[in-house]
Amino acid sequence: MEFIPYSHQSINESDVKAVIRVLKSDWLTQGPCVNDFEKCLCDYTGAKYAVAVSSGTAALHLSVLAAGIGSGDEVIVSPLTFLASANCVMYAGAKPVFVDVRSETANIDPVQIEKNITKNTKAIIAVDYAGHACDWTKISKIAKSKGLIVIDDACHALGASYKSTKIGCGRYADMTVFSFHPVKHITTGEGGAILTNNKQLYQKLMMLRTHGVTKDEELMVNKGNGAWHYEMHQLGFNYRLADIQCALGTSQLKKLDKFVARRREIAGIYNSEFGNNPYFDLPLEKDGVISSYHLYPIRLKDKLKAKRDDIFSKLRDSGLGVQVHYMPVYMHPYYQNNGYSKIKCPKALDFFLREISLPMFPALTSSQIKQVVKTVRDTFEVLDGK
Ligand SMILES: *Cc1c(COP(=O)(O)O)cnc(C)c1O
Repeated sequence: MEFIPYSHQSINESDVKAVIRVLKSDWLTQGPCVNDFEKCLCDYTGAKYAVAVSSGTAALHLSVLAAGIGSGDEVIVSPLTFLASANCVMYAGAKPVFVDVRSETANIDPVQIEKNITKNTKAIIAVDYAGHACDWTKISKIAKSKGLIVIDDACHALGASYKSTKIGCGRYADMTVFSFHPVKHITTGEGGAILTNNKQLYQKLMMLRTHGVTKDEELMVNKGNGAWHYEMHQLGFNYRLADIQCALGTSQLKKLDKFVARRREIAGIYNSEFGNNPYFDLPLEKDGVISSYHLYPIRLKDKLKAKRDDIFSKLRDSGLGVQVHYMPVYMHPYYQNNGYSKIKCPKALDFFLREISLPMFPALTSSQIKQVVKTVRDTFEVLDGK
């Protein structure tokens, strides 16, 4: 029996060639490939500026810092996400405020956002869970009326659309963050990027990416120094992405539309094979949203909710690399021990308890898809005593 993971990268010969070309060139890092990759990200999404960084987590960290968030500030965050969406707020010494999600999409609920805004709220970090865009019209309207910065953690949503605009175009969010980890839509090994249309944010992000240093004469505090001169204005980091990685990213990005189309095709097969089954609900796609299906999350119906872990183990034992996305962030011991033991987001909790992610990635073959469908059917029917 073949083990089918929940996600896997797709690397072909042209990706390999693109990387080898850089390995044989003069620049392994901070050469021409970084700019090229950033330009391709802008062209793809429609954003004005892109800043390539070493991971999605680094991208989130820098967006929070560029937004000027620090001690005493609150940032509204979705609890149903990977840890980094909230950890980035902690890095900055600020306070993540977890607000509940909507049950069908697991995306942050704009009504809950409004209820949780205080005089200390500075920003909202919303996650396009599984590749399905949030209710961006409402979120950006709330943010504008309250003067809040919007960060789209779009690590699941490269290639997705919302109301005919690409995620990352900057129409609804001040900054959009992507990850290029191998489980995501395209990969650079490790890697990430921040996209924005705001020049000031862009300049801050560029400096923070490399130690808070600028070489731009226009930005210098002390002007008229020699050509050697550079200045550090802020405490930044080395969050750079290497040319080797950017070359891979540019090569991968050329195939993104094909990858997303294949993910959507697989979702279509699952939807028709599992439509109207008595055991679980399928991910839905709202009007105006084109999901890029980073995940295919199923949600167990009431009668099976208590058996999730048992079902999960049976699927794993039958060769499916299913996952659970996610235990709400505030339930982790670190957050429990740091003031979050009384937080309750009942819808996020309920979603988590029902959720199982089926294998979903472009390289799944039709026989692997058949194996997923058969294994899932058999597992549920045995449970049902059929
Ligand atoms: C993957 C992911 C991240 C972190 O990205 P890395 O590149 O692994 O650091 C952040 N947020 C979400 C929602 C993710 O899925």
